[in-house]
Amino acid sequence: MLQARLDGVPVRAEPGMKDAICPCCGTEVVAKCGQMVVWHFAHKASNECDRWSDGETDWHLRWKTHSPIERTEVIMGPHRADAVGRDGRIIEYQRSSISWEDMRAREEFYGRMMWVFDVADAYQAGRLSWQTDRSIWQQADNVGHPKVRIKWMHPRRSILACRRRVFLDIGGDRLLAVGHLAREYIDWSAAEPGRTIKLPYLSGYGWLWKRDEFIEEFLADVVEHEEVPA
Ligand SMILES: [Zn+2]
Repeated sequence: MLQARLDGVPVRAEPGMKDAICPCCGTEVVAKCGQMVVWHFAHKASNECDRWSDGETDWHLRWKTHSPIERTEVIMGPHRADAVGRDGRIIEYQRSSISWEDMRAREEFYGRMMWVFDVADAYQAGRLSWQTDRSIWQQADNVGHPKVRIKWMHPRRSILACRRRVFLDIGGDRLLAVGHLAREYIDWSAAEPGRTIKLPYLSGYGWLWKRDEFIEEFLADVVEHEEVPA
């Protein structure tokens, strides 16, 4: 986790910090301040106290640093929401696979929320790809972003269970906002007569966002520009 509590005050990890506690379960946490990772805290004794917490990695921590501290790791009942967006919507950063049941449970619990999935591996391996779609149809949520066709071999199928907005973090400086994805099949039967071989994949469309645009739209504080004196 990115923040803990010290004497009742939210704090970020610093080398040698002592006596900080987890804001969720109240047990002691240890500051982890390595050179290669975002400085963070880990529970000293127990494992992660929120069972929805997703084996936190540097990917999670880096995303969380884009929100102001008071809107990061927000305690909601027994759970700790990764971030609360500028518009009050919960944002969950998900890297490992998640069951349909857990996904639905989280969507029900948080209500207004959206997902950011780490799919950089699939993208780098060429299993997930996108290409520009020249159709002019736009969606209010994605105005100003290029529309793209998405194809995803060996997909993370739990995505199909999502009922909230989904962004796919493909790594680098871009994300894909998912419009619609559905299961389709490549028919390989002709290659091996007598056998029926159908390879499932996901196909659909979405919109291309730059990482900075996403951060500005959903995460970062509004920068108040100073008024220029007349
Ligand atoms: Zn805890």
